[in-house]
Amino acid sequence: MMQIITAETAGFCFGVKRACEIAEKAASERGTVYTLGQLIHNNDAVETLRKHGVIPVESPEEANGCIIIRSHGAARSVYDHIAELGLVCIDATCPYVDRIHKIVDENSRDGSDTLVVGDKKHPEVVGILGFANGDIRAVNDENELNELIKSDKNFGAKSLNVVVQTTFDMCKWTDLQKIIKKHYTNVKIFDTICRATINRQEEAAALSQQCDAMIVIGGAHSSNSRKLADICAANCRTFFTENAAQLEKEHRSALISLISSYNDVKIGITAGASTPAYIIKEVHNIMSEIIKDEAVDAEFMAAIDQMPRVRAYAGNRVKATVVAVNKTEAVVDIGIKQSGYIPAEELSANPNLTPEDVVKVGDVIDCIVTKVNDADGFVYLSKKQVDAQAGMEKILKAKEENSTVKGTVTAVVKGGVIVTSEDGARVFVPASQSGVPRNGKLEDILKKEVGFKVIEVNEGRGRVVGSIKASEREATDAVKAKFWEELEVGKKFIGEVKSMESYGVFVDLGGVDGMVHLTELTWNRVKHPKEVVAIGDKLEVTVKSFDPEKKRVSLTAKKPEDNPWTKFMNEFAIDDVVKVQIVSITPFGAFAQIIPGVDGLIHISQISLERVTDVSKVLSVGQIVEAKITEIDEEKSRVSLSIKALLDGGDAADDEEEASEE
Ligand code: SF4
Repeated sequence: MMQIITAETAGFCFGVKRACEIAEKAASERGTVYTLGQLIHNNDAVETLRKHGVIPVESPEEANGCIIIRSHGAARSVYDHIAELGLVCIDATCPYVDRIHKIVDENSRDGSDTLVVGDKKHPEVVGILGFANGDIRAVNDENELNELIKSDKNFGAKSLNVVVQTTFDMCKWTDLQKIIKKHYTNVKIFDTICRATINRQEEAAALSQQCDAMIVIGGAHSSNSRKLADICAANCRTFFTENAAQLEKEHRSALISLISSYNDVKIGITAGASTPAYIIKEVHNIMSEIIKDEAVDAEFMAAIDQMPRVRAYAGNRVKATVVAVNKTEAVVDIGIKQSGYIPAEELSANPNLTPEDVVKVGDVIDCIVTKVNDADGFVYLSKKQVDAQAGMEKILKAKEENSTVKGTVTAVVKGGVIVTSEDGARVFVPASQSGVPRNGKLEDILKKEVGFKVIEVNEGRGRVVGSIKASEREATDAVKAKFWEELEVGKKFIGEVKSMESYGVFVDLGGVDGMVHLTELTWNRVKHPKEVVAIGDKLEVTVKSFDPEKKRVSLTAKKPEDNPWTKFMNEFAIDDVVKVQIVSITPFGAFAQIIPGVDGLIHISQISLERVTDVSKVLSVGQIVEAKITEIDEEKSRVSLSIKALLDGGDAADDEEEASEE
């Protein structure tokens, strides 16, 4: 029976996890942050972080704005230099490393020397060396320690403090302590190896003793991973790899040959502190494939089963919690160690919206996994596709119910426009259905919110055709129906003069036109509407009558309060003498304007004491004459005038005429 056993302590330690979280949070808030050196000794994980906006730099000068000190820490002088450069410094030094800095600093203030057991080129040790106040050295093994003892008699002669790199090998550390205690008399030894490291190393030692082969996963530059490999190699055949791809490429044949030489084979997996969980999982999967044995580590498989299988579920729906949003994407947590990314174009079908418009941190959204990139460990998702599915359901319902769907015109394409519904469905609207006039430009409705009717759906091809025009027509019809329903004589409107004829003007009352006859435009006498209005003018009108069947509305623009007859009646009476202007001549007399809008008739018999046979011979249009108001017919709004009545004998002549008629 073949078995794969994964160490429980494999993967990110507390300090690395903490540093990653600090960096990702800073990047989500600032867009881009810089780390002084790689945050993790793992190229895959570094590239993942880079996509989050966490960029490694070699020196503070390369950073801009904000620089993060990684979990390894840095020398005191580095902090000072960052401050001089005016950069914001976020310190993600692991608290265990920070403790070493404090030990070194505080215990060397009395002039004591400091010895660091560890690799002097390792960034953690480089940082520690930068915190001593007295003389400080680093040794990595017995040879270097003995060389130091031999070559520098003064070092540590007075007093010595010893600390050890957090990831140092436990056994080597035990051996070196013996030498230190033997040689240095006034020595304080601080065991600063991290428990995470100790636990990982102890488990690796124990596991490698049980297994026929060990796979140690870690970056090429990860000292703690290398140390794990050394520990394991002392007990069984050990394969060191950075990821699953490298394992397959470089060690597959060796592994197959090893497996085939055993009836029962037990393979252990452990990983350094900088190894993301997804890489461990991938290595486990590759190993499972290689040995083709179903009897894999049950505990590990149970753990996997509880995790969303993103690889297997690509194309499926997952719940995602938004953990960061920036201008180009939303970063989401889908319950696995890999971060999920939703690029801006996959957040919404509406290109006018930015990621911040669509989601906010803390939102739980439905997404579809679109791609799992094994190379960089990213999981790419789409909210837009989920929306589109929901949108399609609504589209089908809208078609069934012939209801109007709201959306935004998001693109002009060949032959029409694309409207994206509020629910994310893409709908093609042919130019003829766009509501844009033939000579108009489709670009004019780009980015505009519109309503449309669904006129065709091809579910198989995911194609939907809509009509903005049909929706507009329905809206117009609804407005018209409401208009006729609410119309009544006497109702007032302020409408725009849309067109003009010699007999009157047509006024838009809000979707329906009404007609104002020439005689209803003003109380004054006009020959053509253009004398009082122009196209485009706003006109206050009142409904005189209407016919819903013939769709006709007769309007008047005359206001009762401006009625000149009322004014006339208020100001004039019979026998009043008025100055009037002749406005027209007829065979039976002349009309004269008393006030604008009220004319009186001077009958041919009332022009002169003499008999008049041709009015035009005695009166002319425009002439001003004095006349007497002799009669007012209120009912017919008629006034009779007489010039003759003002002439001597005029009244007597009338009396005689009346008598002779009798
Ligand atoms: Fe911190 Fe230990 Fe991880 Fe180093 S190995 S970062 S000391 S938790």
